[in-house]
Amino acid sequence: MARIGDLLRTGRTVSFEFSPPRDDSAQLSLGRTIAELEPLHPSFVSVTYGAGGSTRERTRDVVTWVRRETGITPMAHLTCQGHTRAEVAQLLDEYQEAGIENILALGGDPPKDPADQRPSEYTYATDLIDDLDTRNHFSIGVAAHPEVHPRSPDRETDRLRLAAKLRRADFAITQFFFEAHHYVEMVDELADLGVDKPVLPGIMPVTNGRQVTRMAELSGADVPSFVTDRIAGLDNPADVRSAGVEMASELCAALLAAGAPGLHFYTLNRSTATREIYANLGLTTS
Ligand code: FAD
Repeated sequence: MARIGDLLRTGRTVSFEFSPPRDDSAQLSLGRTIAELEPLHPSFVSVTYGAGGSTRERTRDVVTWVRRETGITPMAHLTCQGHTRAEVAQLLDEYQEAGIENILALGGDPPKDPADQRPSEYTYATDLIDDLDTRNHFSIGVAAHPEVHPRSPDRETDRLRLAAKLRRADFAITQFFFEAHHYVEMVDELADLGVDKPVLPGIMPVTNGRQVTRMAELSGADVPSFVTDRIAGLDNPADVRSAGVEMASELCAALLAAGAPGLHFYTLNRSTATREIYANLGLTTS
């Protein structure tokens, strides 16, 4: 097992993101996906935290299962939403005891139904970093938004806050995007602010047109017309996936050529698209 900050110092990383399963059948499916992806030797895998802090136990259980049952380094996502400081302290104690060394500290998305919103003693990702810092145990990752976070008042403020957050973390992972220039411009803007910590681009292969449009609306990402044009009129899901894999492979190649320190794949708990991109790029990890 490893600290991701250390892994990034030794070479390129390739990582996969999963969500905690909702029921027994989804759990079996996730187990199969992880088994299919393990032979690719990912540098690490990460497990999301449900909107509004709704999956505290399930996220913890998947992260600790990966740590115990596989040879893969896991990272737990943790959000500000709906938490007291005591709850976060207990969860971090559990992670430390289980040998988990990596946390992605996030602002978090609110629950879909405002009635599920619980009060929180945290507002911004940096509030979680305050707690993580006192432990001196975890390698800390944060989120970055190449196309600017939807709640940021303007680009300059977004970059200043991101730079301040990243100075306190070991690395960042980006929201997904479809054009390499968004990533390159953000990394350049961070460099202008004196921040050169590794920023891993988040890759979301299009496997379902409607799903990507919905997720892009939530995240503030732009779905360019070359993406929608390429999948327009494709009725067969396998054809959509194949076009999505091709576009994601081209994006990954451009990002690696531009100097990205690794690639982080949003898998949506499926392995096929990621394995195909891996094969297209001839990827290996260090
Ligand atoms: P923050 O860093 O807190 O920033 C949020 C906004 O507040 C930004 O506009 C920022 O500029 C502003 N801000 C920051 N600090 C200050 C300050 N001091 N004063 C005023 N404004 C400030 N969501 C989940 O719910 N669960 C997950 O598991 C999850 N995983 C993710 C993984 C990745 C790789 C990414 C990129 C996102 C993920 N998200 C997840 C979504 C994320 O939680 C949302 O995008 C959220 O709205 C912002 O998170 P953040 O960590 O960037 O927040």
